[in-house]
Amino acid sequence: MTTLFTFPKGGVHPPDAKKLTADCPIETIPTPDELEIILGQHIGAPCTPTVERRDTVSEGQMIGEVKKGLGVPLHAPAAGTIKLMGMSDHPMQVKAPSITIKVDHEASANEHNVSDWSQRDAKELVGLVRDAGMVGIGGAGFPSHVKLSPPPSDPIDTLILNGAECEPYITSDYRQMLEMSTEIVEGAKIILKILGVKNCIIGIEANKPEAIKVMGEAAAEGSTSEFNVQVSPLEVKYPQGSEKQLIQSLTGRKVKGFALPSSVGVVVHNVGTTRAIYEAVVLGKPLYEKIVTVSGLGINKVGNFKIKVGTKLSDIVEYCGGTNDRLSKIIMGGPMMGFNVSSLDIPITKTTGSILFLAEEEIDTTPHSNCIRCGWCLEACPMGLEPKEIAIHVEAGKGEDTNQFGVFECFECGCCAYVCPAKRPLVQFIRLAKMKAKR
Ligand code: SF4
Ligand code: SF4
Repeated sequence: MTTLFTFPKGGVHPPDAKKLTADCPIETIPTPDELEIILGQHIGAPCTPTVERRDTVSEGQMIGEVKKGLGVPLHAPAAGTIKLMGMSDHPMQVKAPSITIKVDHEASANEHNVSDWSQRDAKELVGLVRDAGMVGIGGAGFPSHVKLSPPPSDPIDTLILNGAECEPYITSDYRQMLEMSTEIVEGAKIILKILGVKNCIIGIEANKPEAIKVMGEAAAEGSTSEFNVQVSPLEVKYPQGSEKQLIQSLTGRKVKGFALPSSVGVVVHNVGTTRAIYEAVVLGKPLYEKIVTVSGLGINKVGNFKIKVGTKLSDIVEYCGGTNDRLSKIIMGGPMMGFNVSSLDIPITKTTGSILFLAEEEIDTTPHSNCIRCGWCLEACPMGLEPKEIAIHVEAGKGEDTNQFGVFECFECGCCAYVCPAKRPLVQFIRLAKMKAKR
């Protein structure tokens, strides 16, 4: 019997709801007439525009750069004219500064020729990743070049590729593993060269046997005496794809408190990010389009789509034949960690991985009640925190005192809220606590 790797503490088993889109091959959504590109696409500093109104831009041209702080440049997802430097609806903030491009549909598409990365040294390769505006495309969007430059005090021996995709509904990584396995393995080898490391483990949950097979074949074919890439199947348990849990599942090493994965000799990248790194280095293609899962019973067509950054939800809905009467809630991200949105004017960013149009039967609308102190949330928390205490303190107006319960170690996975029989909105309480408490 195959050994399935997993983390020891907490975790839950929500219905995976992936059947809706798992068999939908990646399809390209046509570029809309206008793209709204938000200047702050990721964690860290927002970009400063390098273009002005009425400028013409080509596909892939840099339109924003980070002058100070942690960040990466921004590129035009399509050729066109700068129509507006304004404000756009944002998935988490109310509004955010953006650049609007009026797309020139007549402009010829960029050609991306294959180049030989093996002759480049690590410093050059990191520079290419940074210049391509690469960020982690599965989460908060941490700039990839920073992850590829761990502190010299942390010797790295293992690269982990995150192919767990444990959030329900989402199948964008799954489809990339099926359709672009060679590119992912080539991307892994580029990262291994940058890190000066031989071993890469690709962690994939056991509910994706086809991906395990295809990626396993690509890994065997791509492995050399210099680079050893292998696939390890993971137990199906949420949040298997969270960085700390994944590291512990696959290596048995525990990342302490606020330490980085590099403190235990590991660097983690998502499989989709790794494919994008391949495109940046081998094809010279900046990050300006995303593979996004659109799912749920509230939209007429579901699938996995290649979409230009800056495309609005309304354009995606139109391509998918509109929403239907069953639509009750729209979520950007997965149902466990995503955010409700109320506007279709929101443009997608480099970190958008899925958009869910959920019907009433797909969501739980039971009103919440008082904590019955059952302790289920403690058992479910993979970080060993006390979510009930954090929530009780917030309700009592004492959010600033929640540091003692490790509020900043919470990565908002939602396991606690998922198991709570009183349906308490524990993650929302925790977010409020983080605003009040000081680290
Ligand atoms: S949301 Fe935070 S407190 Fe709740 S289970 Fe996840 S890590 Fe623990
Ligand atoms: S699971 Fe809900 S009801 Fe039970 S202790 Fe935690 S917060 Fe209270």
